[in-house]
Amino acid sequence: MTDSVVETPPFDIEKIRADFPVLKQTVHGKPLMYLDNAATTQKPWAVIDRVHKFDSEEYGTVRRGAYFLSEGATRHFDDARKKVAVLLGTPDPNEIVFTSGTTQAINLVAHSFGKAFIGEGDEIIISNIEHHANTVPWQVVCQERGAVLKVIPVNDLGELILEEYEKLLSSRTKMVAVNHVSNALGTVNPIKEIIAMAHKVGARVLIDGAQSTPHMKLDMKVLDCDFYTFSGHKMYGPSGVGGLYGRMELLKDMPPYVTGGDMIQHVTIEKTTYNQPPSRFEAGTPPITQVIGLGAAVDYLQAVGLEKIAEYENNLLEYGTKLLNDIDSITIIGTAEHKASILSFVSDAIHPHDVVTLLDQDGIACRGGHHCAQPTMQRFQVPATTRASVSFYNKYEELDALAESLKKAIKLFS
Ligand code: PMP
Repeated sequence: MTDSVVETPPFDIEKIRADFPVLKQTVHGKPLMYLDNAATTQKPWAVIDRVHKFDSEEYGTVRRGAYFLSEGATRHFDDARKKVAVLLGTPDPNEIVFTSGTTQAINLVAHSFGKAFIGEGDEIIISNIEHHANTVPWQVVCQERGAVLKVIPVNDLGELILEEYEKLLSSRTKMVAVNHVSNALGTVNPIKEIIAMAHKVGARVLIDGAQSTPHMKLDMKVLDCDFYTFSGHKMYGPSGVGGLYGRMELLKDMPPYVTGGDMIQHVTIEKTTYNQPPSRFEAGTPPITQVIGLGAAVDYLQAVGLEKIAEYENNLLEYGTKLLNDIDSITIIGTAEHKASILSFVSDAIHPHDVVTLLDQDGIACRGGHHCAQPTMQRFQVPATTRASVSFYNKYEELDALAESLKKAIKLFS
């Protein structure tokens, strides 16, 4: 390790790593160093075992059967909703709607809230550093409802310019949709302030929490949040599941987004009445096993402790930032004062796609590309970046290896 200050992890890192079987393997003869956690995270035994036990011993449909397996599965399913509610800091589990992930959760709000509350000439505000999942649905809503899309600009560090945001807000603003943590830059946005400013003009706020839920302690009530989204596969749980926190008073007034079985109260050929939330927004058989796995992932995160996770990951980020800043020809894109877990960078010597291919030869998994955030790339005038994103199972030594491998790659191309 370099002689920069290295804080001792607030937990036994080797014990943590032993919880994640995938980390044990070698790739191209080198130990796997998994640094693509912003794309998706690996699963601990606690999740793998829970899913295996559920599928092999307890599986049944939920909410329908009046028999042993179905009643048990329903109980476990409901428990998972309660666990997510506690994780996000809401006392009401009915404010948690399960979806297939953040993308579907944002689409749900965009289309359902849009239908009920957004009309001709209304305004929706997003930022210049959103994932496409928090950009395209709002573009579509604007096209469909005659609304106008406005964009909060960012400064050269990758921070939202709040003075400009204030100027965009008006009585026509119906929705502000921004991420908590940018997946392309790592910026942590001041969402409490953003929410309070939007509420002053009567606007509602959706926070895309895909990149924040695995990294920090959250409290919807303290944030005074209207909508908050999350993805299971980014928080050590299964893919195919995620969801939405929605303020009950809003969910109650929103029409269904997907219709069909389970979300109804009563159906006749002439007319259908809908269930209360969250059921109104969960048409069809839900991803049962994935929800149970997500519950186990939440238990695991809570047991490690989100405050400890945040503390250690911030130390890793600071350490990695120093290492990359010491390499000539590397420029970090996204140097906000408040960041979480993500190091995005370019080199004038080598394209990100070549970088990640060479890193892979050293067993290092990083992502190269536009990270589904093309407007962010356009703002920083780069076609793509290489992104290393850390988790609490990563070690300082892996960042040393990343820096050494990068130096080798740059030398090869210089
Ligand atoms: N928003 C952000 C900030 C993300 O990082 C991602 C995933 N890369 C998404 C939305 C979309 O999440 P999912 O693919 O799980 O729906």
